[in-house]
Amino acid sequence: MLSEQFDAVIVGAGFGGIGAAIQLKRMGYENFVILDREDDLGGTWHVNRYPGLAVDVPTTTYSYYFEPNPNWSRLFSTGDEIKQYAADVADKYDVRKHMRFRITVDGARWDDAAKVWQIALAGGETLTARYLITATGFLSQPRTPDIPGITQFDGKVIHTTAWDDSYELDGKRIAIIGTGATAVQLIPELAKKAADLTVYQRTPIWVVPKVDFKFSPRAKRLFARFPLSQRAIRAITDSLYEFFIFVGLHHRQWFFRRLNIGASDLAKLHRFISVRDPELRKKLTPDYDFGCKRPTFSNSYYRLFTKPHVHLQTDGIDHIEADGIVGNDGTKTVIDTLVLATGFDLWEANFPAIEIIGRNGRNLGKWWRDNRFQAYQGITVPSFPNYLSLASPYAFLGLNFFNTMEYQMRHMDRLFDEMKRRGATTFEITEDANARYLDQMTELIQDSVFTAGNCATARSYYFDPAGEASLLRPMPTRDAIKQASEFPLSDYQIA
Ligand code: NAP
Repeated sequence: MLSEQFDAVIVGAGFGGIGAAIQLKRMGYENFVILDREDDLGGTWHVNRYPGLAVDVPTTTYSYYFEPNPNWSRLFSTGDEIKQYAADVADKYDVRKHMRFRITVDGARWDDAAKVWQIALAGGETLTARYLITATGFLSQPRTPDIPGITQFDGKVIHTTAWDDSYELDGKRIAIIGTGATAVQLIPELAKKAADLTVYQRTPIWVVPKVDFKFSPRAKRLFARFPLSQRAIRAITDSLYEFFIFVGLHHRQWFFRRLNIGASDLAKLHRFISVRDPELRKKLTPDYDFGCKRPTFSNSYYRLFTKPHVHLQTDGIDHIEADGIVGNDGTKTVIDTLVLATGFDLWEANFPAIEIIGRNGRNLGKWWRDNRFQAYQGITVPSFPNYLSLASPYAFLGLNFFNTMEYQMRHMDRLFDEMKRRGATTFEITEDANARYLDQMTELIQDSVFTAGNCATARSYYFDPAGEASLLRPMPTRDAIKQASEFPLSDYQIA
C-alpha cells in the first residue's frame, strides 16, 4: 500500500499544534496534516471538563500574542471559553481542514535514505513526511494511582481528565485523591454538592488568593475596537508573571529569596485568615519552598476545609475496598464516588509521548534517559533530522504556555527561512550546539529555587526521574525570544 506523503505531520491538535500549523502556513506550507487521538481540537482544554475548570494564568496573557481575544468574559476564564478560543483561532487561520481526529500515532522512524519520517498509525497505516512536529503537550497522559484494591471499588470512579457530565454528584459521599492545581479548582465545586467529602492529601500545595474580575461589555468593546488597550493590560499581566518566574529563578540572591519568602508569607496569611484551627492549618502547610511545584490560586480552597461535611485526610491510603477507603491510620471512609485528581504521568509516558527513532536507530526516549533530558532551545535534538519536539525538556517558560509556543514559532521561522535560502531539505542540530545549550541550562538552574531552595519533599513534576529540574527553561521570555530569533545558523547542519 502506498503511504500518504506530506511536507509535515504535526502530532497534537492543541494550542501547540495549532501554533505550529499557523507557522507552517505563514512559511508557505499547505501539504500538512495534524493528527490527534481525541475527537476534537483543543488538547488539554478539550480533554479537561471537570467542574470549576478555569485557566490559572490571566487570559490577557494566556493567548497567542498575534491573536488577542476581546471576548474573554473575565481575567481567569473558564475552560469552555478557552476551548472556544482554540476553535476560533483554528478557523480564522484555516487550520481545521488539516486536522484528522481519532487517530493514534504509534511511533515515527527517520528514513535516512529517503530523508523522510515514516509515521506509524495504530491500525497499521503509515504516513511519510519531510518534517515531523510533535505537539503532544506536557500534561496529556493521565495518571491513575496504583493503590491496592482500587480496581475492586464498586462505586463510581472518575479521573478529572474523563469527567462524566451525566453523573449526578448531589448528595453523594465523595472522596478525592490529590491536591494539585486541578483539585484546588474542583474541590470547592464538589463541596457544594456532596453530602460528605473527604480529601486525601499527600503533599500540601501552596495556595495564594486569586484576584479575578469580569470584563464589562464596555471593556470588551474597547478591546475589540482598540486592541492596543488589551495589549496594555497584557503588558501588565505578562510582566507580573515574568516577575514571579524571575523570583523563582534567582533564589541564591538575597533580594529574590526574600521576595520568594514574601510570596509564601502571602499564602501563609491567606491560610491563617481562612482556617482558624491550628491543627488543620498545620496539615495544610507545605514544608517545601514556594515555587518548587506550581503554586495555585483560590479564594475558597482553604476555607472549605472548615465546613463540617469536608474532611482532610493526611495519613495516607492503605488500600481501597468495594465501598470505601482504608487509611494508614486504620480508619475506613465509606464512599460511593472516588474522584482521581492524581494528575499526569509527565516523564514516563510523555517524554516522548510516542516512540521516535532517529538517525542510526537512536531511540529518543532511551537516549534521554541514558544521557540526561535535553533539547536545543527546547525544540530540536541531535540525530533527529527534520524533527521539532515542542514538548521538550528545557522548553516550557514556566507559567504561560503561549510564550513558549511563540518562541518556538520564531525558531521555526528562522530555521526554515535559512533552509529555503539554501534550497535545503534537511536540518539537524549539531551535538556541539546541543551540548552548549545543555551546559547553559545546567548553569542557569543552579541559581533557581529548584537547586538552591528546599524542594526535597515537594514531589514536583518539574523534576525528571534523575532528580534534575529539566522541565522549565530557566530564562525570561524576552531572552528565549532573542535566542530563537538570533541563534547561530551554524548550530544546525543544513543540507
Ligand atoms: P498534579 O499537580 O500532578 O497533582 C496530582 C495530585 O495527585 C498531587 O496532589 C499528588 O500528590 C496526588 N497523587 C498522585 N498520585 C497519588 C497517589 N498514588 N496517592 C496519593 N496522592 C496522589 O496534577 P494536577 O492537579 O492535575 O495539575 C497538573 C498541572 O496542570 C498543574 O500543575 C497546572 O500546571 C496544570 N493545571 C492548570 C490548570 C489551569 O490552568 N486551569 C488547572 C489544572 C491544572 P503528590 O503531590 O504527593 O504527588
